[in-house]
Amino acid sequence: MTGDIARARDLLDHATSVAVLTGAGISAESGIPTFRDALTGLWEKFRPEELATPEAFEANPKLVWDWYAWRRGVVAKAQPNAGHRALADLERQCRGHEVDFTLVTQNVDGLHREAGSQRVVELHGNIRRVKCFDRHHPVESWPEGDHVPTCPRCGSLLRPDVVWFGEAMPPEVLATAVAAARTCDVFLCVGTSTVVEPAASLPFLALDSGARVIEVNPQATPLTGRASVSLRGTAGAILPLLV
Ligand code: NAD
Repeated sequence: MTGDIARARDLLDHATSVAVLTGAGISAESGIPTFRDALTGLWEKFRPEELATPEAFEANPKLVWDWYAWRRGVVAKAQPNAGHRALADLERQCRGHEVDFTLVTQNVDGLHREAGSQRVVELHGNIRRVKCFDRHHPVESWPEGDHVPTCPRCGSLLRPDVVWFGEAMPPEVLATAVAAARTCDVFLCVGTSTVVEPAASLPFLALDSGARVIEVNPQATPLTGRASVSLRGTAGAILPLLV
């Protein structure tokens, strides 16, 4: 492992453009469950794919709203961990050496910005924001209660401002992420199962464009066999060693 860390550091030291992709795994050590182990307690009888869709919301808005209210509560109590902080440090180091840096995240928890990261592309939105279902009007505050709140402008039901399964992400957000993957020479992939598209394609796009890929994950993924360096461990343990 020490040799692998040294090789990964060497790749980062010689990079002229760095792109990072993070997934739910980087926030696991902040106490936010990944989708694989999200379904405990109250929510264990549901699958995220059955709750995080527009169809699920239309069929049972209260169920979906309550699930997100529970998840918002978990996120509100969470703090960035050593992995988030190391990526904020990496961005500062890159900027200091005029190396391009883009952090693309699939997470909706906002912890990268809280840790000090600046150039963050949130592919799947942010759970702390709310918008209305029909017209996507952003809404700043809403009453908590037994009913799903409604939009003060158009009366439609409120929903979290996240990208659900089956929904397209904003094209400009995806374009920024794709450009970062295509132009980087080192791509760091942290805590993602690389199965949820289109984010899952980003490291492969980087590989096809000639970048070296470093993976940080306690488990093997479809990317592992093609990564230049695969660091098997948690983000909180590995990333501070890299930066
Ligand atoms: P996933 O749940 O499919 O996979 C998580 C990955 O993280 C796995 O490969 C696992 O081995 C790895 N992992 C677990 N603990 C880790 C640790 N401590 N350090 C490093 N890696 C660790 O998550 P995904 O690939 O990000 O995709 C699922 C979708 O779930 C995403 O679209 C995301 O929007 C959503 N999601 C977000 C959050 C969040 O915002 N924190 C939480 C759950 C799910």
